[in-house]
Amino acid sequence: MKQIVFATNNKNKLREMREIMEGLYEVMSLDDIGCHEEIIEDADTIEGNAKIKADFVTNRYHIDCFADDTGLEVEALNGAPGVYSARYAGEHCSYQDNVDKMLTAMKDQANRKAAFRTCIALNLNGKSYFFEGRCDGQITEQQRGTEGFGYDPIFQPDGYDQTFAELGLEVKNAISHRGRATQKLIGFLKGLGGGSNR
Ligand code: IMP
Repeated sequence: MKQIVFATNNKNKLREMREIMEGLYEVMSLDDIGCHEEIIEDADTIEGNAKIKADFVTNRYHIDCFADDTGLEVEALNGAPGVYSARYAGEHCSYQDNVDKMLTAMKDQANRKAAFRTCIALNLNGKSYFFEGRCDGQITEQQRGTEGFGYDPIFQPDGYDQTFAELGLEVKNAISHRGRATQKLIGFLKGLGGGSNR
């Protein structure tokens, strides 16, 4: 079977991707190829960071690879935290620290519109492709729910009364930023098109 690297060591993302790609590609992690170096993600866009990760692997290991990067963009905060979503409350902060900081920043804010955006960069047979997924919603006034991770307890997708953390993984994957970007990637890899060549 053809092999492809997913430039991550996130077990949840890996499990999900292996399941989706079963029969199509053998998906390997950074661990699987012995890549233990820290990849410095210092681009100022999520597209840039996804490409840094995919290019690092392809250039060093000469193997096809894809990588993802996600940001939460809040309208009232001029698109922040965006590419800095993981470190919003500081370099070694927890998911809860980020949630607390967001609720404080949005206190008394009437405009609560936000969007998650995921970019997947793919290097395949010497060419680069990008796939984007977006999920629009609102920052809630209080956190609700226990499933998921990151900002899930304070993100309510449009068309739903519950947060991602209340909706659970199955619903979330069907409508989420990462779910949508992944579906575009899979469609492309299955030969159905959907990627933009840059
Ligand atoms: P990453 O690029 O996928 O590592 O995501 C960067 C940061 O965005 C994470 O550390 C989380 O704080 C946040 N994030 C990414 N995806 C999600 C999600 O699906 N729900 C909630 N937060 C997320």
